[in-house]
Amino acid sequence: LERVFHYQHPAVGGRNVLFVPFAGGWRIDLQLLDGDDPEQFGSIDGVKQWLPKVMPAKYADRITWVSTYRFFQVVAKSLTDRHHRVLLAGEAAHLFAPFGARGMNSGVPDAIMAAKAIQTALQANTREEAKTAIAAAANERLIAARYNRDCAGIALEHIQGTDPAINMKREVAASLAPILPRLGKWLDEGPYGPKSGPPQLSTKY
Ligand SMILES: Cc1cc2nc3c(=O)[nH]c(=O)nc-3n(C[C@H](O)[C@H](O)[C@H](O)COP(=O)(O)OP(=O)(O)OC[C@H]3O[C@@H](n4cnc5c(N)ncnc54)[C@H](O)[C@@H]3O)c2cc1C
Repeated sequence: LERVFHYQHPAVGGRNVLFVPFAGGWRIDLQLLDGDDPEQFGSIDGVKQWLPKVMPAKYADRITWVSTYRFFQVVAKSLTDRHHRVLLAGEAAHLFAPFGARGMNSGVPDAIMAAKAIQTALQANTREEAKTAIAAAANERLIAARYNRDCAGIALEHIQGTDPAINMKREVAASLAPILPRLGKWLDEGPYGPKSGPPQLSTKY
């Protein structure tokens, strides 16, 4: 069982569909087109309409939950306030389009780093030292957030299907993949974005 991403699935009017093996069953993501009504497609009744077009009909009676989400690519201007009393972590600090798998994966290091910086600040001898510890953590995770946003952006560009250049590149890659495996790899990895992580700036926090 593996994730399968269908670009412009013909059975659902050319919408992209992602199949993800999930919690012992399947998660099926339908990417709506401009002008689609999320209420209509995202209700249980709506899902029962389109799901049998991409899955065996029996699954329409096995829906356990339905949810909707939107693609956002935003990072807070700063991950701390001017007094260095607050550190933002996770989605309070950044929202990424999910396909690079960078949301939770960066929210956890945000939280670990915040906890370490707070510990350092609490043990600091002066208020300035404490502020420096918080500022350093905020700065490092801000750099990581911007890096992760850009990586998620590459994955998003791949899957959105709105960029004619990317669409053309995908078509060419699909036709040449049987003779140029590198292009098949690019197609396969595209929806998940680059594999690299953000730079590690400090070892202290
Ligand atoms: C479809 C999809 C797939 C994803 N896949 C991945 C993946 O493969 N890998 C990955 O790393 N990330 C993935 N993500 C992103 C990941 O789910 C999020 O980045 C992560 O859940 C964010 O965690 P968080 O704790 O920062 O925020 P949240 O999970 O939003 O938690 C915030 C919590 O605060 C609560 N809350 C809000 N307001 C208040 C209030 N006033 N008082 C008390 N509680 C409050 C909310 O109810 C919520 O429980 C995916 C996201 C989506 C939508």
